[in-house]
Amino acid sequence: MKGAAVTEPIDSSRPHPARRYNYWLGGKDNFAADRESGDQIAAVTPSIRTAALENRAFLGRAARHIAEQGVRQFLDIGTGIPAPGNTHEVVQAIDPATRVVYVDNDPLVLAHARALLSGTPGTIAYLDADLRDPAAILDHDDLRALIDFSRPVGLLLIAVLHFVRDDEDVEGVVTKLLDRLPAGSWVAASHATYEFMPAEVVAGLAKANRDGRFVPRDGGRLRELFGDRVEIVEPGVVSVAHWHNDDPARASAADVMCNALVARKH
Ligand code: SAH
Repeated sequence: MKGAAVTEPIDSSRPHPARRYNYWLGGKDNFAADRESGDQIAAVTPSIRTAALENRAFLGRAARHIAEQGVRQFLDIGTGIPAPGNTHEVVQAIDPATRVVYVDNDPLVLAHARALLSGTPGTIAYLDADLRDPAAILDHDDLRALIDFSRPVGLLLIAVLHFVRDDEDVEGVVTKLLDRLPAGSWVAASHATYEFMPAEVVAGLAKANRDGRFVPRDGGRLRELFGDRVEIVEPGVVSVAHWHNDDPARASAADVMCNALVARKH
């Protein structure tokens, strides 16, 4: 793996978002601290596992939709620990030559990079980098080797923007990424929200989020982060469970606690 690691060594004594998410998805790559924190959140919001699964399903639908528009290169920031339906599996099923650059700042994801790199040889890269430093991602040699910024790119920001605080310039992060994409590019994003929850549940979650690392934002704010820069396509900003999902048994917005959008750059 080229490039200096920006991440901390694995610390199993403190909960980590990627490992906690892996626990909710039913994975095995997590430690006691992650399960404890995951259970604490699940005690307040019992649907959290449904929420994680629905988010993951949205990732698949959105990536497929973008690939169906002819996009053959993807930048997936906030990759997570590999789980069924990884981005390269979805988009390379449409065209095995599709390129995917994965980015995460969790060392455990790095430890699993080989599983992420298992697609068509020479088409996938994994960067150990931080969303809060978009230039380091966009100018990285390994990214430049795969992504041609004169052709449309599919940018995936799935369940990751809520780890960037306003005082870390979340707006600037989104703008810098979108500015680099050529016209005809696409972006898909999902973002946690408290807007569908009763006040007592929100209070319980606030307790589990004492360090303030996690920043829920409502659908209006999510639309604002993207709306002026790209054209949000139908059906607009909706629950991840409802974005182009005709399954009558789909989960409710309240259970899923996460909004989504897919947008196209003019
Ligand atoms: N996108 C995947 C995983 C979501 S979990 C999916 O939807 O299934 C969120 C991921 O974002 C975790 O893997 C976490 O390590 C990563 N992450 C959190 N903050 C980040 C940051 N500042 N830079 C890069 N990755 C980050």
